[in-house]
Amino acid sequence: MSRPHKPVLRRCVSCACLKDRTQMLRLVRLASGDIGRDGGFGRSAYVCRSEACLQDARRRKRLQKSLRVRHNPFIDAALVAELNKGPG
Ligand SMILES: [Zn+2]
Repeated sequence: MSRPHKPVLRRCVSCACLKDRTQMLRLVRLASGDIGRDGGFGRSAYVCRSEACLQDARRRKRLQKSLRVRHNPFIDAALVAELNKGPG
């Protein structure tokens, strides 16, 4: 049985808007305590791939708060990498 494609909406930690998760950066706190990108199970947080939201998430440590981690260089690195990609 095939299922029709249905967008999976996720809430951005910065602007709180709902978007299709394919348009967002996802970070997940794995059971091990490490932070992963796509894949893996655990508490996950999403942020829009827009400069405003990425910058805001970085400045205010929104992903850290959402994932309940105190300090993790991987989160900042992931945001910087996304910002460096630019639009598109
Ligand atoms: Zn956003």
